[in-house]
Amino acid sequence: MDEVVKEKLSSIRAQYQAQLEQKAELLEQLWLQSKAPVSSSDKGPALTDLLHLLHRLAGSGRTFGFPEISNLAKELDRSIREMDVGDFQSDPKILYPLKQQLLKSLIQPVVNDSDAKVDHPGKAEHHLVYIVEDDPSMAGWFREALHTQGYEVELYSSLPDLKKAVLTVAPRLIIMDVSLPQGDNAEIRVCQDMQLFNDARIPIVVISHYSGFKTRLVAVRAGVRAYLNKPLNQTTLISCLHEIVEEQPSDPYRILLVDDDGDLINIYRLNLEEAGVKVYGLSAPQHTLEVLESFRPELVVLDLHMPVCNGLELGQVIRQQVRYANIPIVFLSADSSEDIQLEAIRLAGDDYISKPIEPWRLRTNLLARLKRARMVNQYVNELVKEISFKEQHDALTELPNKIQLENRLKLAMRNVREGVRKHLALFLVDIDNFQQVNDAYGHELGDQLLVDMAKRLESSLPHSCIVSRPGGDEFAILFKSMTGPHQVVHYAERMLELCDLPFVVGADEVKLSFSIGIAPYSASMRAIDCKTLFKQADTALFRAKGSGKNDYVIFESRMESELVARVTMASDLRKALQNDEFHLVFQPQMNLMSNEIVGAEVLLRWEHPRRGLISPTEFIPVAESHGLIERLGEYVLRSAIRYLAGCIERYGHAVSLAVNVSPRQFASPEFVEQIAELLKEYDVDGQLLELEITESALAQDIDTAVNKLNRLRKFGVRMAVDDFGTGFSNMASLKRYPVDMIKIDRSFIRDLPEDEDDLAIVTAIIEMGHALGLKLLAEGVENEEQMAVMKELRCDFVQGFYISRPMPADVFEIRLIENQQSGTDLLR
Ligand code: C2E
Ligand code: CA
Ligand code: CA
Repeated sequence: MDEVVKEKLSSIRAQYQAQLEQKAELLEQLWLQSKAPVSSSDKGPALTDLLHLLHRLAGSGRTFGFPEISNLAKELDRSIREMDVGDFQSDPKILYPLKQQLLKSLIQPVVNDSDAKVDHPGKAEHHLVYIVEDDPSMAGWFREALHTQGYEVELYSSLPDLKKAVLTVAPRLIIMDVSLPQGDNAEIRVCQDMQLFNDARIPIVVISHYSGFKTRLVAVRAGVRAYLNKPLNQTTLISCLHEIVEEQPSDPYRILLVDDDGDLINIYRLNLEEAGVKVYGLSAPQHTLEVLESFRPELVVLDLHMPVCNGLELGQVIRQQVRYANIPIVFLSADSSEDIQLEAIRLAGDDYISKPIEPWRLRTNLLARLKRARMVNQYVNELVKEISFKEQHDALTELPNKIQLENRLKLAMRNVREGVRKHLALFLVDIDNFQQVNDAYGHELGDQLLVDMAKRLESSLPHSCIVSRPGGDEFAILFKSMTGPHQVVHYAERMLELCDLPFVVGADEVKLSFSIGIAPYSASMRAIDCKTLFKQADTALFRAKGSGKNDYVIFESRMESELVARVTMASDLRKALQNDEFHLVFQPQMNLMSNEIVGAEVLLRWEHPRRGLISPTEFIPVAESHGLIERLGEYVLRSAIRYLAGCIERYGHAVSLAVNVSPRQFASPEFVEQIAELLKEYDVDGQLLELEITESALAQDIDTAVNKLNRLRKFGVRMAVDDFGTGFSNMASLKRYPVDMIKIDRSFIRDLPEDEDDLAIVTAIIEMGHALGLKLLAEGVENEEQMAVMKELRCDFVQGFYISRPMPADVFEIRLIENQQSGTDLLR
């Protein structure tokens, strides 16, 4: 024990000792007062005081090194309680043994039984740790982890080496990584071998993959101090070592002691403080709640007998506070009645310790409880942290979710309004055609891509910005501080660059394009709230997608009117169906072998009463998102099939028409029946009809899609895969679908013949398509060179401005007749 502590302790004892004479006098005085005739039910206040004094003497004697006082006071207390009224009048002799003992103790040297039993080895003399580890990478990890804490580490790869080292220089601690093949009992033997070293009483920590009972038991029997399971994290390892080496936690325990006996508090306190515990001693129980708030103990020790309010009552008051409903409470009392102990535990407490108790015993007892309380608290805290993390984060990427983003955005917007920062900007980043990645590679790899994207954004953007995933394939990035518009542009461009690098998906490298919508915010925009800013970023994003993707758009207020325009367009579309504002145009398709026009692709046109001609690329998506595509699609199909019927009637010549089918339309359960009924209604052979559908529409639900295609095929209807090559599916996946033709997307044709990459792609598509027994059509052929390339590559059909632009029905019919008459070239 520390010299200073010893000194303090003996001065406290001396004080106690000095008061013993006074106590002896008080004892006699109270006895005489209570001896006055009283009824048995009311023995008077003097007797209460007498019993209280006895209680205190019983509870404190042993603590201060005078066990006899405790014993005699207890005995006397018991005899008095057992007395009848008659006996009570009796001799004061009954007091003598205690009185004499009190006086004797005045001069008696203190019986110092406390120090002898202190289970308190000296502090670590050095910070040398031996580690047995045969895996070099783990060894390196240990070395690093321990160095940061100031430990010196020596590594051994075998037990005999370790033994030799221990016999030469004893370390403070030994760590053994027990990683032996399972099934074999070797790991158990290793634990037993460790007893060799335990002769030197060096603490041993075992680290192992196994957590089987048998292995653990052998370790325990071998005297192993701690058994840690792999995988191991640094915090667990360090705090375990700290506890073994320092014999106390790195963050001291905190105890509140409430006892009206200040001397007792002092001596307990000294003892606990010596073990590194922070103690708040309180002798006025009425202040307990305030002290709880300010001191925040982990454990409360309450004396049961206190004049102002007893420990039981105090315990219940503490329990009434929600915050302390679970704090461990330990009662201390010299009253050994089991009923009272039980009552104390029942009403508020966790445990009951009988006084008198030597301080070192009390300390051991409380330390064990503190350790357990801390473990429970840590566990609860981790759980709470985990839950609140989950509430605020996206489960997949662990980025902040929309809830957290909105909270941070609100704060950041306030900072801008209050002039702390000049501007901020909210970026919404959306992966173009992410659905196709999912369709082609499955959701698991799709998820992995999102995680990669999250990491990429987080690692390359400044730490001050908040990267979050509000949902789906969309990421939101909040730049809390922007100097101005040029910086917004800088980051937008930086982000597109970042996204330009390919992603690894399964065995493939995939290049994705991204669209970014940006909403800047500055102090002048105070009228705008967080939700509106989100909407603005969303509007900008929508624009970016519309402008051909892989682009960023910064929100401007005029875009709001565009948003309105989109809604207006939906309502206009509804009217347009009733008012017959649609018509079809026909773009001829040519057979490259015979140079004959064999048919046409049907393209929809909308003649808006005010806006004039509107492109299908503009209104088809609106029709899709506003549930109008089915009706629009039915209009196109009906018109096309009626046209086919009229063609035969008027010219006796059949052509074939290709009709575009939107994914939503194809997904409709009535789709096949709808076609069948229309063919029947106009008495048209299904062979004259071709349906164009994109890869992604097919991939949505393979079984259903294949089933539909097969049923359509029964009517002779042919299927073409539209815009081929823009998705992520490969040729092999086409094998699954009963289709007839592939339409190579015009983006691959545009730069031919110069672009060698495109040429290679088109060549491969054609070769593989033919190998699968499919016909091929090249879209967007605009010039003679492209035409020549397609001929050379033996592509079956072409379509494009070089052959003809889309044209009205009557013009198309004239072309058809001309074509029939000349039999060959009918270009322009
Ligand atoms: P798409 O299916 O790829 O249709 C071909 C588009 O390429 C047409 O544009 C056509 O005018 C254009 N095009 C044809 N040859 C050339 C060329 O040589 N060079 C260039 N640069 N372009 C050429 P359009 O008519 O504006 O249609 C755009 C898209 O709208 C279509 O793309 C199709 O996806 C959709 N669409 C059109 N009509 C319908 C329809 O009735 N229903 C559905 N669901 N979608 C339709
Ligand atoms: Ca098409
Ligand atoms: Ca196309």
